[in-house]
Amino acid sequence: MVIGLEVHVELSTRTKMFCSCPADFGGEPNTHVCPVCLALPGALPVPNRRAVEFAIRAARALHCEIAAETKFDRKNYHYPDLPKGYQISQYDQPLARNGWLEIETEEGRRRIRIRRLHMEEDAGKSLHGEGDGEATLLDFNRAGVPLVEIVSEPDLRSPEEARAYLEMLRATVFYTGVSDVKMEEGSLRCDANVSIRPRGSSELGVLVEVKNMNSFRAVQRALAYEAERQARALARGERLERETRHWDEARGVTLPGRSKEEVNDYRYFPEPDLVPLRIDPAWVAEIEASLPELPEARLGRYQEAGLAYKEAWTLVAQRELGDFLDATVAAGAPLRQAANWLLGEVSARLNESGRPLAELRLTPAGLAGLVALVEAGTVTPTLAKQVFARMLETGEEPAVIVEREGLVQIRDEAALEAVAERVIEANPKVVADILSGKEKAVAALVGQVMRETRGKANAAKVNEVLRRRLAELRQAEPRG
Ligand SMILES: [Zn+2]
Repeated sequence: MVIGLEVHVELSTRTKMFCSCPADFGGEPNTHVCPVCLALPGALPVPNRRAVEFAIRAARALHCEIAAETKFDRKNYHYPDLPKGYQISQYDQPLARNGWLEIETEEGRRRIRIRRLHMEEDAGKSLHGEGDGEATLLDFNRAGVPLVEIVSEPDLRSPEEARAYLEMLRATVFYTGVSDVKMEEGSLRCDANVSIRPRGSSELGVLVEVKNMNSFRAVQRALAYEAERQARALARGERLERETRHWDEARGVTLPGRSKEEVNDYRYFPEPDLVPLRIDPAWVAEIEASLPELPEARLGRYQEAGLAYKEAWTLVAQRELGDFLDATVAAGAPLRQAANWLLGEVSARLNESGRPLAELRLTPAGLAGLVALVEAGTVTPTLAKQVFARMLETGEEPAVIVEREGLVQIRDEAALEAVAERVIEANPKVVADILSGKEKAVAALVGQVMRETRGKANAAKVNEVLRRRLAELRQAEPRG
């Protein structure tokens, strides 16, 4: 299976690509419009410098080369929600080319090449069946919102790889801050070019474009369906058609749309109202210097610190968790231990409450303090969870809570021996089982001691004390 993805990302600039209308999502229909984005006669486009800056920012994060000169072209096609009758896009001189992203595949890390990244403007939206009866209404608020289109080479080999690429792309663009990349609001949209070919063959099969996939899961399902459909058709001796198909989420199938236009059908020609843009390399360098650590680098750093790929990726993909982890490490916690808390208790709390991390009463310094108390053996892992729960309730430092509530771990052997003795006397049946060879029953006694000490006992020490006492009992037992 051979897959290439075309991803459209809406840039979160304040204003549109070629006019000063607000580029916000939503709003009452047709309230964010002006003569330029409605294409009224005589209106002239003016490029948004900020949008170009954002596009360069995304392009450099994707390791693309930035063109010294780039120009805009008209892509002609008639669509009801495209008021000009053409879209301003970029054809033969895109802003950026030759980038790549690394993804994790079954065979390890692989580099997926990016052919080009170009700027264009979004179309409006058709609202079917709203308002009076069967009419289709048009909302041009989105018309002219700046987009970048990111086109990969056909380097992806399975639906899983396509999903991994898309997730890495989304995270990378999100880290640059140029888009909120929300698939559900359409600020990240993905089309796929899919073909299949016999194993070992290098010739490309017939290309089918799949559109309308609105989630990562949809991308994976649609591509799996398409591979299967094409393989079956070929097995029946049918000829595949070059076409565009739409993913139907509810039915789980792709359905034929219009036949794929050839590039010629668009009749691209240079946009006469816009002069070519010269891109100053110093400007590019300045933009690049302001990029944060990107997901690829952060992922590698976490893996080097000993996290498994899945753990590391969870912390990278949810940027707030990764930022919190780094801050906790900066506050003195070992990365591995801090990551365990974030992936465990903290994530569980976030899932329960459905609220963002910023709303939990937890600070990186507080979490680092808790990790330090566990490392020093002051609190047991069980106690640490209690302390954690109290931290979220009161917002206090862990050491303060431990002090006030007397949650210090009991390591004192004499104290533990006393409890062990009480537990042994209270459970003659279990003790008899152990002495007759059921070693596993020791766990029941350990549990009992932990309960008696309200989780404050050091589990290893409890084990040690109990086994020593049981050995003594075994010796004392009359033989015969
Ligand atoms: Zn406008």
